[in-house]
Amino acid sequence: MHTAHRTRGFTESVIRGMTRLANEHGAINLAQGFPNFPAPEILKQEATRAIQEDINQYAITWGSRRLRVALAAKYAASYGIEVDPESEITVTCGATEAMAAVLLAIVDPGDEVIVPEPFYENYGPDTIICAAKPVFCPIWAPPSWELDLERLEKAFSERTRALILNSPNNPTGRVLSQAELQAVAELCQRHDAWAVTDEVYEHILFEGRHVPIATLPGMRERTITISGASKTYSVTGWRIGTVIAPPEVTEAIRKVHDFLTVGAPAPLQEGVAAAMETLGPEYYDSLASDYRSRRDLLHRHLEQAGFRAASPQGAYYILADFSEISALPDDRFSYWLTREIGVAPVPGSSFYARPGDGRHLVRFAFPKTLDLLGEAGERLAALKGGAA
Ligand code: GLN
Repeated sequence: MHTAHRTRGFTESVIRGMTRLANEHGAINLAQGFPNFPAPEILKQEATRAIQEDINQYAITWGSRRLRVALAAKYAASYGIEVDPESEITVTCGATEAMAAVLLAIVDPGDEVIVPEPFYENYGPDTIICAAKPVFCPIWAPPSWELDLERLEKAFSERTRALILNSPNNPTGRVLSQAELQAVAELCQRHDAWAVTDEVYEHILFEGRHVPIATLPGMRERTITISGASKTYSVTGWRIGTVIAPPEVTEAIRKVHDFLTVGAPAPLQEGVAAAMETLGPEYYDSLASDYRSRRDLLHRHLEQAGFRAASPQGAYYILADFSEISALPDDRFSYWLTREIGVAPVPGSSFYARPGDGRHLVRFAFPKTLDLLGEAGERLAALKGGAA
C-alpha cells in the first residue's frame, strides 16, 4: 500500500511510547510532561458554564473574540507588547498545531529551518511536512546547556527562512539571557530570517521574568510568538494554543489553520479566556514557585541516585546524564528504569538528529505533586545499590 514519502522518516512519538510503557509496568510516568494536579477552578467553571449554555458550535476560526482580547491584555500587562486582537492573533489546537500551521504559512519547499539541538521532537517533522530542510544545530552545549553562538551563526545560510527558538527550553531547562536573546535577534536580522518561538513555558521560570524575543528592537516584525494554555493553566488535554504575528503573516497562518482544523474547541476557549481575565500576577508567581519546589526535590533525588544534571532555569524537565550509573544506551536504560525501578524517563537520543549525541542522557519531567516526586525519589534511591 502506498504511503506518502514525507511520512516515511517519521517514527512514533518516543515520548508517548514511553507513556504506554510506563502504564504497562505501573511505573511513575516522568516521561511525558503533563501535570497530575488539578487546573484552576475558574477554567473548569467557565468551560462547564459554556457547555451548559450551548456554546457548542464553531468558534470564529482564528479564535473567539473574548479569548483574543484577553490574550492581548495579558501580553500588554506581562510584557508591555501591544497586540491587535483583530489582526495579529490566531488561536489554534495547541502549540503543536500552531507550530505546524506557522511553518506551513511561511516556509517554501527547499527553504532551511534551523532547529537547535537538543530539541522537542515535533520540530523536525513539522519542517519536513513543509518539504523544507531542517538544519539541526547542537547549540545547547552540555553539561550546563550554554548557548553555543558560534555554532548557531554557522547554521545560517542564504536559504534560512526561520529559526525555531524555545526558551524556557524543553528538554534542557535553559532560559536565554538578555544578551543571548540579543545575539540571536541580531542573527535573525542579519540573515532576514523569522524567529518562530515556542514560549509555552513562559510562566515556568525559576529566576527573573520571561522576555519574549518579540520585545527586542527590530524583532516584533520578524517574530512569530507561539504559546498556549497547556502549561500555564495545567490543561494539556484542552489543546488551546496561541500565535501572535504581524498582520500579513497572520492572514496566511489563519488560512492554513482554517484548512487544518477550522478552529479550537469553543467552550474551552471560554475557560481559558476567563483565566486570562481573572488570574493576576499572584497566580503566575505561585505557579512558578510551586514548580521551583518540584524541581528542587526531583533534582536532589536524581543527584543522590547518581545522575548528573544541571538544575533547570525554567520549563519542567531535567535532562540528566546517567553514565555514572549505567553503560547501557539511553533507550535500553529507559526501558530498564521503567520496568525494574518503576520510574519512566524519555531516552535522550529522541532530542537529537544524531541519536549518538543523546545516548548517555534521559529526560525526567516534574509537573507532578511533591508526593509523587518523593515516591519516584524513593524508587530511584535503589539505583545506589547497583544498576543495569
Ligand atoms: N510537551 C510534552 C513533553 O515534551 C508532551 C509531548 C507529547 O505528548 N508528545 O513531554
